[in-house]
Amino acid sequence: MSPLGITLLMLAGLAGFAWLAWRKLAIVVRLQPEVRWDHPAARLKAVLVNGFLQQRMIARDWKPGLMHAVIFLGFMALLLRKVQLIAIGYHEPFVYPGLAGGLFAALKDGVELAVLAALGYAFWRRYVQRPRRLERNREALLVLVLITVIMLTDLAYDGFRFALFSATDAGIAHERGFAFAGSALASALAGWPTAVLQAGYQLSYWVQLATVFFFLALLPTGEHFHIATALPTLFFRRGGPTNVVPAVDLEKMMSDDADAGDLRVGVRTARDLSWKDGLDAFTCTECGRCKDACPTFLTGKPLSLKWVNDSLKHHLVEQRDLLLAPAPAVDAEDPLPPLVGPVISEETLWACTTCGYCEAACPIELEHLSKFYKLRQHRVMMDGEFPHELKPVFEAYESQSNPWGLPSQTRADWARDLDLPHLTDAAQAAQVDVLFYVGSAQSFDPRGQKIARAFVAILRAAGVRFAILGDAETSTGECVRRAGNEMLFQQLATTLVSTLNGRGVKRIVTCDPHAFNSLKNEYPAFGGHYELEHHTQTIARLLAERRIALAPSFERVIFHDPCYLGRHNGEYEAPRQVIRLLSRDTPLAFELQREKAMCCGAGGARMWLEETIGTRINVARTEQALQARPQVIATACPYCAVMIGDGLKALGREAEVANKDIAELVAESLLPAGAAS
Ligand code: SF4
Ligand code: SF4
Repeated sequence: MSPLGITLLMLAGLAGFAWLAWRKLAIVVRLQPEVRWDHPAARLKAVLVNGFLQQRMIARDWKPGLMHAVIFLGFMALLLRKVQLIAIGYHEPFVYPGLAGGLFAALKDGVELAVLAALGYAFWRRYVQRPRRLERNREALLVLVLITVIMLTDLAYDGFRFALFSATDAGIAHERGFAFAGSALASALAGWPTAVLQAGYQLSYWVQLATVFFFLALLPTGEHFHIATALPTLFFRRGGPTNVVPAVDLEKMMSDDADAGDLRVGVRTARDLSWKDGLDAFTCTECGRCKDACPTFLTGKPLSLKWVNDSLKHHLVEQRDLLLAPAPAVDAEDPLPPLVGPVISEETLWACTTCGYCEAACPIELEHLSKFYKLRQHRVMMDGEFPHELKPVFEAYESQSNPWGLPSQTRADWARDLDLPHLTDAAQAAQVDVLFYVGSAQSFDPRGQKIARAFVAILRAAGVRFAILGDAETSTGECVRRAGNEMLFQQLATTLVSTLNGRGVKRIVTCDPHAFNSLKNEYPAFGGHYELEHHTQTIARLLAERRIALAPSFERVIFHDPCYLGRHNGEYEAPRQVIRLLSRDTPLAFELQREKAMCCGAGGARMWLEETIGTRINVARTEQALQARPQVIATACPYCAVMIGDGLKALGREAEVANKDIAELVAESLLPAGAAS
């Protein structure tokens, strides 16, 4: 071996890695600051569970997940072996003290064979099975080949070494007794000329280490940079609720001493991205898992998180010099191009339904929603540019606090004949169990009104003491917030918080998962702290408490998970518990269900936007339901009800297949009072 040779190889590999890695990381550290140090124990746990043990990946799709885990963990375990080989370059007989042969040799061979088996599966999957999410990629092929070369040359190195020296060196003979794969190779090489064995011994050593250091230097140039950055990315993950729009400090913006910097809203150029946004873009593994049930990708729209990350990554590298140069004065024009348009198309920005599938599917928890929300905020509040359909919606919310612009004083008309108590003060609030926050869809839309009336029937059957706000109810503003109109959202939120707090509201139930998410996860930042229940949770609880009972009344029921209830708030069981009790048979299931459920297409203000690219998301989701041949498609969100109902109409199936909210199914299955106990 040659100390000079190994030194040069090592210096070249490390210098190449450091220089190329810094070219990217220097950009990341120049982006906007963001604190990501809170809850360090939880962060370390994420690194251990989803980084080292790869649990998230294995749980979602175990075969490729296990394959990746074997390659990753094998690679990590073999780092010890590579250090040994480097040491051998300086001192040929080097062995780790106490690890001369025995278990170490056997484990090394076992790990290398496991990694080779996983690599075989990876080749087969990528080039024979070819799942839709994996696009053709030369870098992935090169990396698979390089890892295969590293494994094979290591086994070959042992084979040649044992063939040459095990007869004369007791230590190597002992090691050969355990290194079953290397020993088998050595047996196959028995009788070969010594000169050939010597050449093979030298060649397998130097090819292996040259490949290792070439691979190291190559890492920062492409998607396999994630081998170095995935663990830090997991450590700095967001944590907490998954769908909270980053707030804009309007008070500071409006204050007399606001400077030009305070007037910057959202994200316009790459310079406005946070360092975590930049790290995410450089860490994306391009595995494509984020596309599997992304409603936009599946219906032919120009959006998937993978593509967004890819565009951002290239843009950051292209604009490196400008990003590293001193930032222009806050009131000077930034020479950087805007992101929306040149990098992320307008269609892409507004296509997102904010369903969160991509974030939930990403094995390294890359973030998407906050970036898109900030881009929308800038387009709406600073540029005044947004899809034309949103203008009347914003105006309607502004004047009447509902998306249709219907008179706000008619908000409680749906319940006029029901004689519901309207909550007017804190004394009255102390007398009721819960406030039923009805929401705009159930108040004004005839489809939603049916759901609200069904839920009222259930609450009454259970003897729940409840009230509504009546005409005093206003919108949560959830939809306008996701459409980027933070100013209007904060006006609506402040109004509603004042109404709720002024009446001493502590507990709220709602049939709308969007209002549920906003009131539960976003309102605390505006002074609204309430206990929230979605109506499916309330119904499940009332059934468990035997305050209502159901007669099994429906067959072939399939449940569509609302994204804002399931993925964004983790509630998958309550609706299913209820459906099991009202079904005469075993409920059906979507192929894409629970955390993998595909969105109906209404979230993120998409409810109000035309869908002109690709196929319609609601029709695609309805078709997925129809594959199970249901009699009833159950929903638990007023927007899902409209979308699935429209999907059935578009497919001409509304006469044979019913679409009902769980509240409607329950109201139709209620047994008379007294049957529950
Ligand atoms: S949030 Fe949903 S629609 Fe938006 S990119 Fe992610 S998966 Fe696609
Ligand atoms: S965003 Fe996550 S899931 Fe999507 S390609 Fe990148 S690493 Fe894979």
